[in-house]
Parts: sequence; structure tokens; C-alpha cells
Amino acid sequence: MPQLKELLDATKFLNEGKRALITKAYVFAEKAHRGQKRYSGEAYFNHLVETAKILAELGMARRTISAGLLHDVLENTEITPEELESEFGKEVLFLVEGVTKLGRIRYSGKERHIESLRKFFVAMSQDIRVLIIKLADRLHNMRTLEYVPKEKQKRIAQETMKIYVPLAYRLGLRTLKRELEDLAFRHINPEKYHELAAGIRRHRRKHNEQLEKFRKSLLKMLAKHSIRNAKTDTRLKSIYSVYTKIVMRQKDLGKIYDISAVRVHVETLEDCYRVLGIIHGSWRPLPGRIKDYIAFPKPNGYQSLHTTVFTGDGMIIEIQIRTHLMHNQAEYGLASHIAYKERGLGIKDPYYSWFNQFFPAPSDKKKEEEILKQHPHVPLWLRNIINLQSFVTIQTDPLSHLKSDFFQHRMFIFDPKGDVVDLPVGATPLDFAYELDPNIGNRLFGAKVNGKFVHIDTPLKNGDIVEIQTKNSAHPTDKWLKYAKTSFARKEINQYLESVKKVVIRRQKK
Ligand code: MN
Repeated sequence: MPQLKELLDATKFLNEGKRALITKAYVFAEKAHRGQKRYSGEAYFNHLVETAKILAELGMARRTISAGLLHDVLENTEITPEELESEFGKEVLFLVEGVTKLGRIRYSGKERHIESLRKFFVAMSQDIRVLIIKLADRLHNMRTLEYVPKEKQKRIAQETMKIYVPLAYRLGLRTLKRELEDLAFRHINPEKYHELAAGIRRHRRKHNEQLEKFRKSLLKMLAKHSIRNAKTDTRLKSIYSVYTKIVMRQKDLGKIYDISAVRVHVETLEDCYRVLGIIHGSWRPLPGRIKDYIAFPKPNGYQSLHTTVFTGDGMIIEIQIRTHLMHNQAEYGLASHIAYKERGLGIKDPYYSWFNQFFPAPSDKKKEEEILKQHPHVPLWLRNIINLQSFVTIQTDPLSHLKSDFFQHRMFIFDPKGDVVDLPVGATPLDFAYELDPNIGNRLFGAKVNGKFVHIDTPLKNGDIVEIQTKNSAHPTDKWLKYAKTSFARKEINQYLESVKKVVIRRQKK
């Protein structure tokens, strides 16, 4: 089983005992999916190994990786939840069920429901690991999208761009986000993708030597100033981010200075600023291009110093300076936090201490519990993000407090095709119909909730599937105003009733 060896090699950070669960899941999934094929003709099982490998590369622990191997058994095989639980325990079952539920959601292309869909993903993933597995699953599906029937490709690519990419970004999973984004872009706008990819390749061929020369003299300069344990590498900008820069700044490829950048990783925060000083002392910086994302991190937590300098031999180059920890955080984001927590490395782990700076000091423990008590419905992992980011965002964004209220006051309702709408708690099928489309609301005749007929003013529950029935002869009445809970539905009903009154008055005048 060469694939198993490859997977286990990617999980070397786990001890032998912990890897046993992964081996067991591997064997179990292989058997369960035997005979099934993917569009590409390869064994379906390959998809599961690849998904698990992505999770291993993100540093996830054994249960998450095992759930990655098992994520399609409930949907695509005869295996029951009971069997899965007795073999792998409650936690793995919980993760697999979570991923299966998320799999039923479709992006139908309705622009106004996108934000609902994103929120739904977050709310339904009671555990952030579910979301990470789903993202790994999607990444492998995107890597193999060319084998999927042409007519499906665009929808999947668009769904990836609109739903999964922003989620990966918000979780700080940068490497994953970049790859998903480029793969989606390639299918959404193939001409532009290939044009830019070729342009970037040309750029790299042209500048590689200069870039290497610069990187080496930079390393020498750092050694001269005795900066310890400094590492450098070069990174190429992703195709999609070059594209957005061209579109947003209306520049051409030749005017984008950070297509390739040199990165400097150092030990301490102080070293970052020292390195910046050393660089500016040796190469002339471009004015207005110095950015301090260490003192002012990006909303997703990204920290780094950026500057752009003239190399002296005709090149302009961006340099990014950060600590090793900031770098790992930038590449793997919240995943690194979750992974390390699950692996139980505790306080000794460098990542952990990096995150510690964002948590309230122990004396604030009481305050923290108070906040959590006020928001019992917020998924635990999301509370962690809120905690984590409170340090960074609260001063700049006082509304961030309010975001957590969302889960107490809103619920998610589906139409049978998987379209999702978020409504206030207490909303009715009538509200749902108007939210879908005012024309549907105005012709509302009846509603089925989870397959059963109900009255149109029945309060809905989170996760209900609502099928709306319309009739051309149906129309709003005064009573509907009492049934409606959203102001949007009320406004539309009022508008209709007003227009009818006007018609009646006009008729009476005649
Ligand atoms: Mn899958």
C-alpha cells in the first residue's frame, strides 16, 4: 500500500500509537468504497487519501485525518452511523456527519443568498474541524475538476470562489485559499488565467537570476549585522492575486512590483524591525510602500513588515519580514492553532505561546466566562476566534461584538434545492416565500415544512426545509400582515394591498 506510506509520512509529527487510528480508517474506507470510481476513472478511494493528505499537511491530528478518510462513507456507501461510531468513536462520527451535512448545500447562483450561505457554513460547523475537512475535500475536488462534466465545472468553480475561498481566508488558511482561488479562477476565466500564468512564468525566467543575487547579498548583509537564525526565500504571487491587482489598480503586469518577493524569517519581533532598518540602510526604499502589518495586523491576523526597494541593478523588489511563528501563522492560520491544541502539545509549543498573546490575561478569566454565558449558541471554535481576534479588531471595529449575536437571533431555512436563506427567529413560511422572491410571496398558496403541509404562519425552526407552493389566483390579504415577521415581507404585502386599494377606488370612481 504505497499510498498509505505516503499518508503516514505526512503525519510524522504524530506518534506511532496515534497513527494507528489513521491506518485503521484507511483500511476501512478502502473496503467501503471498493469498486467505486471517480469521473477521472481512478478509484474513488484516491479522493479520500488525497483529502487526508491535505489535512496532514495542515498539521491536523489523527481524528481529523481519519474523518478525512471516512468523510464520504455515510453519503456514498452502505456504512451506517452506528457502525462508524462503534469502529471510530463519537468524535469521528460527529466530524463525518458534519461534513456530510455541509455536502448537501448548493450555491445556485443567486447573488443575494451568498452571505446566508457563508454564514450557514460557519453556523452548521459546530466544530471548526468540520469546516477544515470540507475545505480539504473541496481542494482535492478542484484539483481534479477538469474530469468533471463540462456543464458542472463552472458552477463548482463559482461556488468555490464565492463560498470556500472567503471561508479559507477568514480562517487564515492562506496556502489553501491561494490554491483554491487559482483553481477556481482557471475554470471561471480560462483565457485570462492562461495569459497571466504565461506572463508570470516569463517574469520569473527573466528575473530569477537577479532575484537570487539579491537574496544572497541580503543574507550576507544580515549576517554582517549579526541577525541570528535568519532564513530567506522567494515567493511568487498567485495568479489570481496578480489578476485582482491588475483589475483594481488598472495596472499592467510590468508595473506590479511584488510578483515575486523575497521573504525574511527571523526569531524575534525586534529582529523584524532591525532587519527593516538594515535593508533601508543598504537599498533605497520606494516611498509609500512600507507597511507595518505587525503593529497593525490584517483582519485575518496576518502579520508582517513589507517594504519595496530598488536593487541597484534595475529591479524593484518587495521584501516581507516576519518571525518564524508569524510565518507559520500566515500560511496555516487557525489550523495551526487547532492542530496544536488537539495534539495536546500545550504551553511548551511555540505556536501556543504565539496565540497566548491574544487571550485575555488570567485575571480576566471571569470577564471571559461572562461573555461566553451571554452567547450560549455561538459555536465553541468561533468563540475562540472572537477571543483571539478581540485583541486585534475590537478597537478598529466596535461592531465585531455584535457579530456573535447573530447566532442567537437568526436561523437558516432551505428550499428543497439546497438554497439557503437566513431569517430572524420566529419567521414563517410567508417570510421565507418573500425572501426567495416577492413574486413568489404574492402568489403564496401553501407550504410544506420538511415534507408536511403547514399553515403559512407556522414558526420555522433552524434547518427546516420549506417547499413553497404558489397559485396565480392567490394573493396577499390583511391577515398576512400579522403572519409576517420580517419587515421586508410586510413592506411587500403593504405595497400589494395599497396597489389593490387604488385599483378599487379607481373602479368606484368610474
Ligand atoms: Mn468528498
